[in-house]
Amino acid sequence: MPNILRNIFDLFFPEECLNCGSLLEVQGKFLCIFCLSELPLTHYSRQPKNQLEMAFIGRIPLKAATSLFYFERKGAVQKLIHQLKYQGKSDLGIFFGLWLAREMEQSNRFEGIDFVIPVPMHPKKEKERGYNQVIGFASAIAKELQAELRPDVLLKVNNRKTQTSKNRFDRLKILENDYKLHSSDQIKNAHILLVDDIITSGATIEACGIQLMKHNGVQLSLASMAFTP
Ligand SMILES: [Zn+2]
Repeated sequence: MPNILRNIFDLFFPEECLNCGSLLEVQGKFLCIFCLSELPLTHYSRQPKNQLEMAFIGRIPLKAATSLFYFERKGAVQKLIHQLKYQGKSDLGIFFGLWLAREMEQSNRFEGIDFVIPVPMHPKKEKERGYNQVIGFASAIAKELQAELRPDVLLKVNNRKTQTSKNRFDRLKILENDYKLHSSDQIKNAHILLVDDIITSGATIEACGIQLMKHNGVQLSLASMAFTP
């Protein structure tokens, strides 16, 4: 169903929990109280040296990193992110972004973020899907942290699958060249929050991070919806 019809439909029919399908008493909350309370939160925002930060040691220097959820195959988080990406539930990204940003605000580890930069999609892929699901999430974080959303700084210029036959170093070299900086002089000496939906191997983050760190004085932090430890 197109988004606009969905919105009209939702005005007349009560929404269902996106995880278990039970009817929601309060509209616009996406999940029932039970499913909401069962989501696997990491609480990384307040936790220095968390597993996400440790995963990047020796790869790229991160000031701080956090993820709202742990990613579990076939779990509620996978189901929700699938709906966000492929079923037009773009508001979910904003909901997750606000949630995570409020958690980040309660920690002093993410103070002074100047720019929020979403991991870009290749324009062709973005056109096919209709939107980059990371942008809503990133914009909600930027707004809450009073930072500037800059989806124009980092571009994805190649649209191909990474060859799994190559070793990690070669793969990273290839991946690094898939991303390019654009009109990025302003990010010199800035504290940047790089934002993605799901972090698994971290190779994409590493490639994007390497590009962003080409500018002097950049401090990099990281935020994602979900992380596979
Ligand atoms: Zn539910």
